[in-house]
Amino acid sequence: MTRYLFTPGPVPLDGRVSSVMAEPVAGHRSREFAVLLLRVQNRLRDLLRSAEPVPLIPGSGTGAMEALAVNFTGPGSKVISVSCGVFGERFREIARRCGAEVATFDIEPGRPCLPEDVLEACRIHPDADVLLLTHNETSTGVCNPLEEICRALPKERPLILVDAVSSLGVVPLYPEEWGVDALASCSQKGLMAPPGLGICWLSPRAREVLSKGRETPTVFFDLKAFLSGLEREVPSVPYTPPVTVIRALDAALDGILQEGSRKRFTARRRFARSLAAGMESMGLKLFVEQKEHRSPGVTAVEIPENRAEDVRKALSDIGLETAGGQGKLKGRIFRVGHFTREDWPEICLILGSLWAACREVGISLREPDLKNVREVYEREDVPCGKSL
Ligand code: PMP
Repeated sequence: MTRYLFTPGPVPLDGRVSSVMAEPVAGHRSREFAVLLLRVQNRLRDLLRSAEPVPLIPGSGTGAMEALAVNFTGPGSKVISVSCGVFGERFREIARRCGAEVATFDIEPGRPCLPEDVLEACRIHPDADVLLLTHNETSTGVCNPLEEICRALPKERPLILVDAVSSLGVVPLYPEEWGVDALASCSQKGLMAPPGLGICWLSPRAREVLSKGRETPTVFFDLKAFLSGLEREVPSVPYTPPVTVIRALDAALDGILQEGSRKRFTARRRFARSLAAGMESMGLKLFVEQKEHRSPGVTAVEIPENRAEDVRKALSDIGLETAGGQGKLKGRIFRVGHFTREDWPEICLILGSLWAACREVGISLREPDLKNVREVYEREDVPCGKSL
């Protein structure tokens, strides 16, 4: 039986991405690796529309978040954390363990974090030096309006550190234009590469803070060491990186840039909106009510009678892997990831399978209204605006 991976990361790989991993491993001090590293830097810079350096940290999204926290927070620093789900909480927990004083603001799960929420938090804590935000909260399927948030903040503002783990490569993300100071992301979601890398991006302001700051308490996450390697004429890394994953990331980025990132963002949003319309036509409720804040990469749907885990198991039995609700949402919702190139056939596959899985566990739903879904699909083929 074919198994379909509809989890919000890791994601299925394109054939070319898989095949480059079979190539011989290059030594990380070789000329070949330096050329690869430079190419990946340039491709990531293209995607982010910024010429600033993009350190690649062995690990995952959490590793990249830890790298930011350990370099920019610590004993004596005051951090504002505005969270709308599990990953916002993770970021603040990392900062707390780094020794920072953390002021917390919680948005009800399913709702977005809006500019007024962040402005209010910054107004209450004018002495904070760091602000932690999540771009796409994967645990609830919310995509926060990061551009609007950053633009609403006054010039005198804390350093803005953003968890972009599930937004990079899925939605427009232009940190330099928007006024973000640092990003944490990963290889295995919207960039369609295998797991193994955390990805950071740093603004000139963030680099200045780094250069004036204390010594980083860990060697592994020392961003200054990564930056000095990237600034060399022949770029290098401070220690052995997952060379094979970097090669795969290079191939995946090539695919994204060849397709055209704007085209890709439109396709992801179109998929999400069509899938949501299909689920709603069956009588299901999307966890995020406000359509404009629904994530183009992950859809969270409520299942009647808290039966989400039963439905997920029934879906898995017929070959579709999805993700459950996290924390308090376990049983209430399940999540479908669509970070890659899912299109019309996958919409039909997911809707039909979901209808059958619900019936299997005794939940009767209306059949999906594919005619209406197709209309949404046709209508949504329009280039995205500034952010979404
Ligand atoms: N932040 C967000 C928004 C995420 O979606 C995830 C992974 N689901 C993480 C952080 C953690 O990333 P990783 O599992 O790669 O460490």
